[in-house]
Amino acid sequence: MSLPSKTVFHVDMDAFFVSVEELFDPSLKGKPVVVGGQRDERGVVSAASYAARKFGVHSAMPLRTAAKLCPQAIFVNGHPDRYRDCSAKVHEVLQSFSPQVEMVSIDEAYLDMTGTERLHGPPLLAADKLHQRMKAQTQLNCSIGIGRSRLIAKVCSGKAKPHGVFYVVPGQEAKFLAPLDVREIPGVGKVTEQKLHGLGILTVGDVANLDDSFLEQHLGKWGLALAGKARGEDAGAWFEGEIGESDGPKSISHEHTYDRDTANIAQIESTRVRERASGLHNWTTKFIRRYTACFTQTGVRERKFDCSECMPPRLTINLLRPACSRTTAAENGSRRSQSPIAFATGMANRASRLAPE
Ligand SMILES: [Mg+2]
Repeated sequence: MSLPSKTVFHVDMDAFFVSVEELFDPSLKGKPVVVGGQRDERGVVSAASYAARKFGVHSAMPLRTAAKLCPQAIFVNGHPDRYRDCSAKVHEVLQSFSPQVEMVSIDEAYLDMTGTERLHGPPLLAADKLHQRMKAQTQLNCSIGIGRSRLIAKVCSGKAKPHGVFYVVPGQEAKFLAPLDVREIPGVGKVTEQKLHGLGILTVGDVANLDDSFLEQHLGKWGLALAGKARGEDAGAWFEGEIGESDGPKSISHEHTYDRDTANIAQIESTRVRERASGLHNWTTKFIRRYTACFTQTGVRERKFDCSECMPPRLTINLLRPACSRTTAAENGSRRSQSPIAFATGMANRASRLAPE
């Protein structure tokens, strides 16, 4: 395994939106809480507390489905301003631990902790200190994954939840990864999982045992990245460069659910403009119309949705750093004359060519 002798932390805040809401209303603590709107609204769940997750509630699920699964849940409206403020505090704490911090979402970050042993001690001690400082300064808990690469650290933080630390000691990466399900490799979604299962590949170990060329033949460029990931390497687009090299998250995915069905291009545009105010460029927009007949249509793809109720239309907006932006204002403008669905579908087609799924 050709992993560098680095120490990488992946810090993931525990049930972030719910935990922030608990700061403002401590009576929510320990209870099944659903953030995102009220039980009879047509929006989707932004976050669920661990107590609510036990009933099968998860993010992106319709609020009404969550209410059916967990009638005793407390439904809370989301407060983006609160989450942004808390995220800034989290960022501050992380920066006090390492000069190389990369926030990858509002509640997740990678820290390059290489060379900080004299200051913070060995990795587990440093993680313990970070837990304590995070709690003292933000009143929030986090989970910490530690490894020689971002990929290993990311997989570890999932295993550390909630409020734990998971460390893969250098040299043990292959042993750690081998028995894991292919789905646990960051970036492997349902589509890739099905493809791999079709090839008889079930575990990360199975991937690691294959020739890179075999994976490339079946999955293209993404197959090569997958081969690297199965070895624990930071392979693939999102792991390019060093930690902290970029000055912000590479992408933010944001979903907006309208209160009512809309075919109003001005309304859709105004949603996009609001997202642009964050300083990132709007790059891809996906318009998801969910039909009563249980189908979800995303661009040209159509898949069955295992939900018996009417789903609201959603607008998914992916934002990329300006340097990565490929959609020009002119391009946006030229599409205004088209119908909202055609406009959004065109964007989605482009996005689907760039992502493995
Ligand atoms: Mg989190």
